[in-house]
Amino acid sequence: MLQSFWERVLYEQKYDLIVVGAGLTGQSTALFFKYKYPDARVLVADRGFYPIGASTRNAGFACFGTVGEHLADLEIETEEVVKQRILRRYKGLQLLRETLGEDTIDYEHTGGVEIFTDTAAFSVARDHVPKFNAWLYDLTGEEEVYKAHSYLGIPAIYNREEGMLHPGKLIKELYRQNVELGIEYRWNTIINELDLENGVVFTENHEKLLGEHIVIATNAFTEKLLPGKNITPGRGYVFVTGEMSMLEWMGTFHYNKGYIYFRNVGDDRLLIGGARDVDYQTEETDEFGVNDTIKKYLVNFSNEVLELPQGWTIEQEWSGIMGFTETKSPYLEKVGKRTVLVAGLSGMGVALGMQLGKEAANTI
Ligand SMILES: Cc1cc2nc3c(=O)[nH]c(=O)nc-3n(C[C@H](O)[C@H](O)[C@H](O)COP(=O)(O)OP(=O)(O)OC[C@H]3O[C@@H](n4cnc5c(N)ncnc54)[C@H](O)[C@@H]3O)c2cc1C
Repeated sequence: MLQSFWERVLYEQKYDLIVVGAGLTGQSTALFFKYKYPDARVLVADRGFYPIGASTRNAGFACFGTVGEHLADLEIETEEVVKQRILRRYKGLQLLRETLGEDTIDYEHTGGVEIFTDTAAFSVARDHVPKFNAWLYDLTGEEEVYKAHSYLGIPAIYNREEGMLHPGKLIKELYRQNVELGIEYRWNTIINELDLENGVVFTENHEKLLGEHIVIATNAFTEKLLPGKNITPGRGYVFVTGEMSMLEWMGTFHYNKGYIYFRNVGDDRLLIGGARDVDYQTEETDEFGVNDTIKKYLVNFSNEVLELPQGWTIEQEWSGIMGFTETKSPYLEKVGKRTVLVAGLSGMGVALGMQLGKEAANTI
């Protein structure tokens, strides 16, 4: 369609910052940039009517890692890298709670529990509790964060510094704060081309947006915009049960190095998700959808391990897409004179997203 003379004032404006991707990371980048430069013109563009990746589709665990996960991470990364990532997640959670307000995002400091059905794996994890407690003390000053015990008779390791929140309320509040600060949004806007050197962002409908700076916060979907960055999509499946009387699993729970996770939603529902490892290759996709093999596995887990009461039902199920780097460390790097990439949060972005967004804003 030909533009009118008058529309030039709308289409040819230049932003100080354009953020592509309105998930937790992108919107946090916009927020902290605006804190730093209150007069800056900031635009956030997203392909969805709401963000549609992981930030509104996750399980709402405010966590920084179980002993089992740390041990698995140490098999692929050095102690220093694993430690620094724990610290970043820990700081990210503090920042998130302070910035958005605990009540607003339904934050509950429940602690987290990692359960074990394999006694050998439990004894290895239990033996490492003192080591990871020493790490956490060095990093954060918190004492005795992890403690071995049992939950409903199942061997477990408790983490007293974790909690849960409501991802929908989180994004709603972040959006509210950004709009209040004057940050502009373009929803339903697919960005399909970038001119990194000149700060031009092209939409699928051939509109052109000009930015002094650009931040790409498209996580799992980055490959299409910036080929070669090696961020592999990983689909995650989640369901919430119907109401159950006498729900015994209250809090946040992890199993099998974090591959399975479950938590209460209110007093009478359970959310369960994960098990990507059951059908890894199929789940390396950026298409939303339900994998029946994984669903069956989680239903069986709910019956056999969690022993949910007979007759329990699935009330709602969905999937979200995560973006994994090879080592699980995210990208935060310049990819052009004016452009920063912040993506690849590798499955724990509730903790990392705001902290990374803040760091991205500081690199501009
Ligand atoms: C099922 C599931 C459960 C999870 N549970 C937890 C948990 O309990 N705790 C935890 O810490 N983490 C969890 N995570 C991970 C966490 O949700 C993510 O790491 C985090 O939300 C990533 O945020 P983001 O903003 O970087 O990416 P996203 O939220 O994916 O945002 C990227 C945005 O970019 C937009 N976009 C992509 N391409 C384009 C384009 N070309 N043009 C315009 N817009 C585009 C998308 O629409 C999307 O809104 C979970 C993830 C999933 C999928």
